[in-house]
Amino acid sequence: MARHRNVRGYNYDEDFEEDDLYGQSVEDDYCISPSTAAQFIYSRRDNPSPFAEKEEHDYKDNEHSNFSVSSHQLTGTEKAQLDSCLDHMREVLGESVPEKMMVEAVLNSKFDVQQALDFVLAQVNKHDMKIKDEDNVISGKATKGINRDSQTTRTESDVVPKVTKMTVSGKKQSTGFEVPGVNAEENGHNALMPQKGISAGDGNSNLGITEVPSKPALSSQTVQALEEQNAAPTPVKKSGKAKQQIDVKAELEKRQGGKHLLNLVVIGHVDAGKSTLMGHLLYLLGNVNKRTMHKYEQESKKAGKASFAYAWVLDETGEERERGVTMDVGMTKFETKTKVITLMDAPGHKDFIPNMITGAAQADVAILVVDASRGEFEAGFETGGQTREHGLLVRSLGVTQLAVAVNKMDQVNWKQERFLEIVVKLGQFLKQAGFKESDVAYIPTSGLGGENLVTRSLSSELTKWYEGKCLLEQIDSFKPPQRSVDKPFRLCVSDVFKDQGSGFCVTGKIEAGYVQVGDRLLAMPPNETCSVKGIALHSEPVDWAAAGDHVSLTLTGMDIIKIKVGCIFCCPKEPIKVCTRFRARLLIFNIEIPITKGFPVLLHYQTVSEPATIRRLLSVLHKNTGEVTKKKPKCLAKGQNAIIELQTQRPIALELYKDFKELGRFMLRYSGSTIAAGVVTEIKE
Ligand code: GDP
Repeated sequence: MARHRNVRGYNYDEDFEEDDLYGQSVEDDYCISPSTAAQFIYSRRDNPSPFAEKEEHDYKDNEHSNFSVSSHQLTGTEKAQLDSCLDHMREVLGESVPEKMMVEAVLNSKFDVQQALDFVLAQVNKHDMKIKDEDNVISGKATKGINRDSQTTRTESDVVPKVTKMTVSGKKQSTGFEVPGVNAEENGHNALMPQKGISAGDGNSNLGITEVPSKPALSSQTVQALEEQNAAPTPVKKSGKAKQQIDVKAELEKRQGGKHLLNLVVIGHVDAGKSTLMGHLLYLLGNVNKRTMHKYEQESKKAGKASFAYAWVLDETGEERERGVTMDVGMTKFETKTKVITLMDAPGHKDFIPNMITGAAQADVAILVVDASRGEFEAGFETGGQTREHGLLVRSLGVTQLAVAVNKMDQVNWKQERFLEIVVKLGQFLKQAGFKESDVAYIPTSGLGGENLVTRSLSSELTKWYEGKCLLEQIDSFKPPQRSVDKPFRLCVSDVFKDQGSGFCVTGKIEAGYVQVGDRLLAMPPNETCSVKGIALHSEPVDWAAAGDHVSLTLTGMDIIKIKVGCIFCCPKEPIKVCTRFRARLLIFNIEIPITKGFPVLLHYQTVSEPATIRRLLSVLHKNTGEVTKKKPKCLAKGQNAIIELQTQRPIALELYKDFKELGRFMLRYSGSTIAAGVVTEIKE
């Protein structure tokens, strides 16, 4: 699986420093392998060693049952081949399958290990189905209505999900930045503000919106007002591209069999079940084959984290698995009836909010996963939880449609009262955060059991009160977003890496316009041009790609060393502006200490996180009308709307919100908390 390395933006020192910080903080605060969940694990633990029990019986039914290994004379080479095949099979199957069965499969397949594995897994599956059928007959319950085999026609060995990771350049936060012209310490901020990095232990002392009071600082009027009042665009020049061989809009309609592309981010509190839910969904869709799933089950069981088997589909790195938390944004692809979905699994832990912002900035729609268990939903929703913070962040970053997966419903016996209690509580909050009621859908799910994910649940516990969509149907019914294909080309780099051939590759989402192989592009900064040698969309080579696509571009004529995560590639005739000073309209979140001149912040903009300082406080605005209510305020308090001037340490490329919504939004964080959302109103220098 591809894990692209950010060659330029990678700070190797962080590897060492962060180990300590991350390792200790999570272990202290979070129970990573909840033993309570173990009873619901999709492994065969309820029927331990089915093969051991049934081995004799099954073999009698088997056409090869008269086979005996010892009776077979193997040459030395054959023995070695057999051992090698068995080693390989044990890696996949662990200890759960009797050796005799594996030996037989290897010999029958003439030492073809893939064929042998298929044979054994077919036996395993047959056995599982038999047990399930028996269970269903006994309990009188309907089956889950999922036929995993029918989901795919691909061969078993092909089916492994491709997960690409997006890593954020400045994931480690600090405060007290040195910004030219402004000294934060002079203004007393370092004395005023808590001096903490982003460790899991600092949650309760944070300033930010994780401690939103009963009346959140951000109201629907304010988010909408912020967007509407700044959205009247100045006329944009038509892209001056000479190459007009393709009618992008018409081609887009035809592409992917007429399916719309949709970027989906999965958000929610740590342990809500995001990775499990999406891992299981991918499995049920046939994007993960039985063999791989079996391997994950075995490995996770061995590691004492059996309940995380599905989460391992998306949590790819050793550290993520070790800790049981998602850290990077995992990206993969799946299809629904009418859409091709780029799925981004964002980390829930508050240490990794910057990574989550990167994922959310590139998303069109979101799935918010909440844990329905008693006490767990509350923990995620109340003080210190990420449910509220993520909800606010995605809305502020432009996501307007949301599916809420009310997950782990099995833990509350699929009780309607519990579901409704969560819907009411969340509904009020999401409305205040700026989501229209009609754009939010609530779906009861069990990520671990696979219930109500790709097919509507037939379980009477649910059907007696729920007739709505399953998760996949909801994803399919999201409205496709408007893409800015008519605007000049813009792509924000989320990763840079060296390819085998000449040149190098950058990945990122095309925010506006389109690109064709052979185009010349300008990178800002460093203000240098290059040529597009190749384009890949979902790892397939293509001739062109357009706004909304997550692509990988192979570039030539430029030195890789000059390109960093956060650079914007644009059309050379209509370049993006680069500056270190700009004005913006801010919406201040629930901060405890007022913002004054010289305030040091971390600016999160697309894939960039850059130290900056609030250089000037220009005016306070009326939340709804946008009229100036106070000029040159001394400070800004929670819930206020204001015009401010920001100074960044290094030049960054950005756009006015009114011209390019996607490239004119940003978030400000301080000391591990998100303190404001903003839109760019004026670029200074
Ligand atoms: P994430 O941090 O939100 O990605 O959560 P994970 O997917 O890593 O899951 C956290 C824990 O919750 C794991 O032990 C899962 O097995 C468990 N879990 C996830 N979904 C469900 C569910 O629907 N029911 C139950 N009982 N447990 C679940």
